[in-house]
Formats: sequence, structure tokens, C-alpha cells
Amino acid sequence: MTDNLNVLRNALHKMGVQLPYLWRALGLIWDAARRWTVVWLALLVLQGLLPVAVVYLTRLLVDSLVDVMGLGAEWERLQSVLVLVGLMAGILILKEVLRSAAAYIRTAQAERVRDYMSDLIHRKTMEVDLSFYDSAEYYNQLHRARSGASYRTLGLLESLGVLLQNGITLVSMLVVLLPYGAWLPVALLASTLPALYVVLQHRLQLHHWTIRTTEDERRAMYYDWLLTMRESAAEVRIFQLSNYLRQLYQTLRKRLRQERIQLAKSQGLAEVAAGGSALLVTGVAMGWMVWRVLEGQVSLGDLALFYQAFNQGQSLMRAFLENFGEIYSNTFFLGDMFDFLALKPRVVDPPDPLPLPSRISQGICLEGIHFTYPDSHRPTLQDFNLCVEAGQIAAIVGVNGAGKSTLIKLLCRFYDPQAGRITIDGIDLRQFSADDLRHSITVLFQEPVHYSATVRQNILLGDIHANRSDAEVIAAAEAAGADDPISRLAQGYDTFLGKNFKGGADLSVGEWQRIALGRAFLRQAALIILDEPTSAMDPWAESDWLARFRKLAMGRTAILITHRFTTAAFADMIYVMDQGKIVEAGNHQQLLKAGGRYAASWREQMQRWMDASSPPFGADLSA
Ligand code: ATP
Repeated sequence: MTDNLNVLRNALHKMGVQLPYLWRALGLIWDAARRWTVVWLALLVLQGLLPVAVVYLTRLLVDSLVDVMGLGAEWERLQSVLVLVGLMAGILILKEVLRSAAAYIRTAQAERVRDYMSDLIHRKTMEVDLSFYDSAEYYNQLHRARSGASYRTLGLLESLGVLLQNGITLVSMLVVLLPYGAWLPVALLASTLPALYVVLQHRLQLHHWTIRTTEDERRAMYYDWLLTMRESAAEVRIFQLSNYLRQLYQTLRKRLRQERIQLAKSQGLAEVAAGGSALLVTGVAMGWMVWRVLEGQVSLGDLALFYQAFNQGQSLMRAFLENFGEIYSNTFFLGDMFDFLALKPRVVDPPDPLPLPSRISQGICLEGIHFTYPDSHRPTLQDFNLCVEAGQIAAIVGVNGAGKSTLIKLLCRFYDPQAGRITIDGIDLRQFSADDLRHSITVLFQEPVHYSATVRQNILLGDIHANRSDAEVIAAAEAAGADDPISRLAQGYDTFLGKNFKGGADLSVGEWQRIALGRAFLRQAALIILDEPTSAMDPWAESDWLARFRKLAMGRTAILITHRFTTAAFADMIYVMDQGKIVEAGNHQQLLKAGGRYAASWREQMQRWMDASSPPFGADLSA
């Protein structure tokens, strides 16, 4: 008993905590679909009042029929029966019309709300730092926020509608019952208390269970993704992973399914017990009313009204509780959504951001940088120092995991270092607005996105706000060395790329890389950063591309990250990175002369070329 009371107290306490979310969700619905919401409310009130009108008319009809049967079928009496039958029919037709109208309005309203909420989530995902994407908890939150935004908000809307409608009907039924005995409405309400307890307890359990299993749900979705998507299709086949992945998926789903069914079972049993107590109350009330009819205290019409009102009152109360439970549970999930929407980025703009120079005149410097990824124990960059002079092409080379790509993330302010500063022409990056900064940089990422769009759009996405002309798109493609593969496509720049949608053409990895380079080159940015621009290029294309790139980068500052020494050799300055530090710096000739790590790796790579076939274009093997 004490345990039960505690559960109830806990549930009611939670309800108090969640209540503000309900108001906020209603505010969002109002913002998303104002006019539809007003019409929806008006319909609900009407729909709520109709059942009691039916009950009331039933009583009049039964009494009129009793009159006709007892006193004779005179025209006047028959007329009143016919009027009542007509009214009843009219109300029943109106009920149907309103039901269809309500379904239409609900769909229109729901579609608007869904899109509005999705937009809120999209804005938030763009606003948060890249570091959020490193945390599994972020994905859990996002997962719950997404479901909160779509079907939870709509579920809330639906439940609120039914709650309101049922509430109006219920109150009117209680009013109708009142003249037969003040204890009847009280008994009706009291008979549903066990059900209230069951509903609250179940919803609370369900919410805890959902929180606990979010990661497992996402993991099951991940296996499902591996089994069904193109990205993994080839590997899954060649390594014959399908049975293994199906097994993982099914084991996980089986556990989740069993737990969910177990919850439903215990809820079902509790509901049966709660329903039994409600039935007992109905039996007592009906017995009492029949006794009164037999005593001649009330009419048969009264008995018909009473039966309908009490019976409907009880099912309404059950539906009311069910909807109340739905709302209660939906507000939990909406709580998750609001928590997600309240996430705040850590990389923020200064109160008065400085304007960015349109051209870099001195250079970019990283001074005493110390950086550790969130949730990581090992620093990626320690006391890192590097200055790239304005107008130079700097190459950064180094082993896997040396921290090269991390530099790009810091330069774009996806993360801020824990110590040290990064400057452009002596001004700390943190003094610019992040948007302005990112607009002045163009980046080819190591794994560029393959947009399912036409070739032209794929390139235009690099500078979507600038309304670039076709000539500029073509120039960017040429600079990237993408013009040749594009010319071989059936519809040239209008060819749709990607296999996700009907009729899309696919490209090789190297061709995709050139399209992505074209995208990076479209933006006339002061700083060009390219992470492994030549990794998927053949050696013939590489030397041609390097020549084009020098022309394009003229007067701008460029940072190339590369594992290819033939690409690095062409830069004005080469920085060799190891374990988060610059260990060698100089131009190609200087580094070869110094005879350090770069020189050794260069000779090794050249020797491999010699052994394999012929040296790459432009490589000086004698050096
Ligand atoms: P590669 O040549 O293989 O591309 P890289 O020099 O570009 O390597 P980075 O990607 O900068 O290396 O990674 C440097 C180190 O930082 C690695 O040890 C990696 O494990 C770690 N690291 C990278 N990204 C993250 C992250 N999001 N969270 C935690 N650690 C990370």
C-alpha cells in the first residue's frame, strides 16, 4: 500500500514537473498552426456536446413512446415522437459530418505541426557544436527529440483533443446524473480511481524503459541500416556478414520486444483489476435505479437516460484517463525534446565581433595550442606552434593520427583549443563571428559529402548564397580537374548524381573527389584548406591538378594536408607533424638537404615508385 502511494506520489510529482512542457508544447502548436487550431477547438466543443444531446433526446423519446403506448397514438403525440426522431437523426448526421471535418482538420494541423517541429530540430542540430556529434548521449537525445517532435507532439494534440471533447461530454453527463442523486457523479468518478493509478504507473514505467533502451533502439536501427543501405551492401556481401548482422539485430530486437510485451502484459492485468471495480459500481448504481423505477419514483425514460449517461460516463472516464495518461507520457518525451532544443553551443560569438579581413595580409598562426577532444584522455595537440605566411601554399604531412585534420577543425572553430590561440593577421579567431569566419574559409574535407543532386548543384552548394553563374561553376570544375569526367556524363552539368533517387548516375571515388574540390573552389575564400585533395587521384591527374591549383591559389593562402610527398613537394612550405607537434619545417629542397624524417620518407616513397614502374611526373629522383 505504502509502495503504491509512493508510486502515485512520484507520478504526480513528475506530472507537476512536466506541466510547463505541456504549455510550451501547446505554444509551439499554436505558433505552427494558429487558424487550424481555432477551428479544431470549435469542432471539439461541438463534438463534446452532441452525445449529451443524444442522451437527453433518448429520454424524451422513450417517455413519448411510453405516452403513445399508454395513452393512444393520437396525431399530436405521434407528431412529437416524429419531431424527436427527426432531431435525433439530424444530430447523428451532424456527428458524422463533424467527425469527417475533424479528421480533415487534424491532418492539416498535424502536417503543419510536424514540419514546424522538424524545422526547430534542424535549426538546433546546425547550431550545436561539432563536439556534440562526438557524444553518444547527443544521438540518444536527438533520437528522442525526433520522436518527440513528430509523433509525440501530434499524439499530444490528439490526446488533448479527445480529452477536451470527452471532458465536455463527461461534465454534461455528470450534470445530467446529478438530479438522480448527488452521490452518482461522485461514485462514477471514484470508480475510476484504480484505473487512474494504473495509467499513471504504467506511463511512468514506459518512460523509464524508453530512456533506458534508447541506445539499444538506436543500435538496432544501426544494424538495420547496415543490412539495408548501399554504403555497406558490398562489404556485407563479400564478408558474408548478413547472417551475423541479422542475428545481432534479432537478438537485440527480441530483448526489446519481450520487455515491451511484458510491460503491456502487466498493464493489461492491472487494467482488468481496475475495470472490475468500475463494473461493481455500475452494478450497484443500476440496481438502485431499477429499484426506483419499480417504486414508481422515476420513469422508464429516466432509466434509459440513466443507463446511457452512467455507462457512457464510465467509458468516457476511462477514455479520459487513457488520454490523460497519453498526455502525461507525451509530456515526458516532450521534456526530452525541450532539453534537446535547449542545448547551447560552447563555441560562441563575441558580443562585438570584428570584421574579417577580405584578404589575409600577414598570415595564420597557431600559437601554443593545447587541444584534447571532449571525453578524450589524450591530448591531440600539445604546445603546437605553426605560422603560415599570407599568400603561401603550406603542406602538412605526417603519419595517421598525427593531428592534421584536427588542425582544420580548430581553424574552422568547430572546436576551441583549451589553451593557446589561433590568429588571422594577428587577430584571435574568437574575436570574429563563427559564421563570418567559416564564410572566409573553403575546405575540402577528407570524406566530402556526395550530394544527391545534379553536378551543377553539387558545385553550387559551395557558395549557395552568392548566386554564382554557370561560367563560375565551370571555372571551379576546371580548376578542380572535374571538367573531364563531367564532359563524359550523359547530361554534363545537369546529370543527377547519386543512386539514392531515380535515374541518378554514380561516379568513381576520385571523380566524386574532384566534384567536391570544384565545390570548395567555387567559394572565393581567403583561406583554402584541402584535406587529402589528391588521395584518390591517379599520378597523371595529380601533376596536372597541382599546376591548376597553383594558378587558382594565386594571392590566397592555402593549407594542404596530404600523405603524398609528390603533392607536398610542390608547396612553398612543408610542415612535418608527429604526435601533435611540428617536427620539421622547410621547403622541399631544404627538407631533403636536412636529411630528416621527410627526406627519408620521400626517398622511400620514390623508391617504391621506381620499383613499381616509373616515377610520378615532376618528381626529382636524384634529390
Ligand atoms: P589521418 O592522416 O589518418 O587522417 P590525422 O593526422 O588527420 O590522421 P586526426 O584526425 O587529426 O589525425 O586525429 C588525431 C587524433 O585525434 C587521433 O588519435 C584520433 O583518435 C583523435 N581524434 C580525432 N577525432 C576525434 C574525436 N572526434 N574525438 C576524440 N578523438 C578524436
